[in-house]
Amino acid sequence: MSTQRTLHDTPLLDQLESGPWPSFVTGLKRLARDSGMMADLLGQLETSYETRKGYWKGGTVGVFGYGGGIIPRFTELKDESGKPLFPEAAEFHTLRVQPPAGMHYSSDLLRKLCDVWIDSGGSGLIAFHGQSGDIMFQGISTENVQTAFDGLNEMGFDLGGAGPALRTSMSCVGAARCEMSCFDEARALRTVINNNIDDMHRPSLPYKFKFKFSGCPNDCVNAIQRSDMATIGTWRDNIRVNEAQVRDYFTAHGMNDLFNDVVGRCPTKAITVVASDKLQSDPHTSVAHLGDGNALCIDNRNCVRCMHCLNVIPGGLLPGKDKGVSILVGGKGVLKIGATIGSVIIPFMKLETDEDFERLNDLARNVLDFFSENALDHERTGEMIERIGLANFLEALDIPVDPNMIREPRSNPYFRSDDWDEQVAKWVEYKQKVA
Ligand code: SF4
Repeated sequence: MSTQRTLHDTPLLDQLESGPWPSFVTGLKRLARDSGMMADLLGQLETSYETRKGYWKGGTVGVFGYGGGIIPRFTELKDESGKPLFPEAAEFHTLRVQPPAGMHYSSDLLRKLCDVWIDSGGSGLIAFHGQSGDIMFQGISTENVQTAFDGLNEMGFDLGGAGPALRTSMSCVGAARCEMSCFDEARALRTVINNNIDDMHRPSLPYKFKFKFSGCPNDCVNAIQRSDMATIGTWRDNIRVNEAQVRDYFTAHGMNDLFNDVVGRCPTKAITVVASDKLQSDPHTSVAHLGDGNALCIDNRNCVRCMHCLNVIPGGLLPGKDKGVSILVGGKGVLKIGATIGSVIIPFMKLETDEDFERLNDLARNVLDFFSENALDHERTGEMIERIGLANFLEALDIPVDPNMIREPRSNPYFRSDDWDEQVAKWVEYKQKVA
């Protein structure tokens, strides 16, 4: 039976519980009733709110065989004799653990994760998930880190990345639950990560490197903003139409909403409403008859796959059948040159057969190797490309420039017209190779 702990006074933290939204403080207090570590954590946190200072410092903590994956936190709040003011939270390390691809868990598995965490001396605090997708087991002493890792490892879980290393990867929920999915996200993630796992467990890169996988251009895992190499599902034929569901939408919402929320919001004006008897047959146009003598028409040559119309009429408009992926490099948060969005280096490739996945894997390894050999210390891929130039990066990877590689949709291809004939010949040859 656990004993009820006395909590430190936390008047400032208490205020955070008074707003309209659930507060993390309530959760921490609930854990603190049974955990001295959490009670002392609240004490230290209250002190930080009082003084507006953080009191954690890093150090070196790890488990056998791994160079990363544990984020060490030691308290700096000590009395004059050097004793920690909140001794039970004096060591409050975090285990970063890789989630399953697509983040699918059974409730039984989640219960077992909690049991292992508590039984090995963890604080009870778990965050699903960190920015890179890790399950964050937060709050454990140096002494117990190995026990916790062994317990999680026996369940089949592995540590994720930390420091200048390949970081834990994320894929969206994917084909298992989403009709927009354009490739097997889980397989792509496991193929790339399993083949490069050494770079995660033994940090030896100039800085962090992230792969992310989104099944469609909605990009639910923020691959384009947050990953050094983003693999994002797309299609190259026409948007599919389920006419009955488009009509359901039209019946429920009417012409005003159709114009205001769908037609008028298409960024490239690819959508029109045309009288059904004026329709002209065109292999590049998707058509949905609305049942009132009009038809919704999408000119697929002008569609930039922004996903807006598919999201507004879910099930009525769907990705095409000729699916594949676009690959972008160089997305990242702030740092030296500010936040960057990934640049397209492969406008389209199929990702279905073993050979396709092998090609993705080779590309990932080449990008990682080039980054490892050419980036400066503490420089992300996007910053390295800014410094050396995208054309040089593409040349090093033996990827010919392609007019579909764009910096801004519909306005700015990287393609230059000097050596035009030579470049077009290279591009045609490359296209034939990857078709
Ligand atoms: Fe327009 Fe294509 Fe976006 Fe639909 S997905 S709104 S057709 S650009």
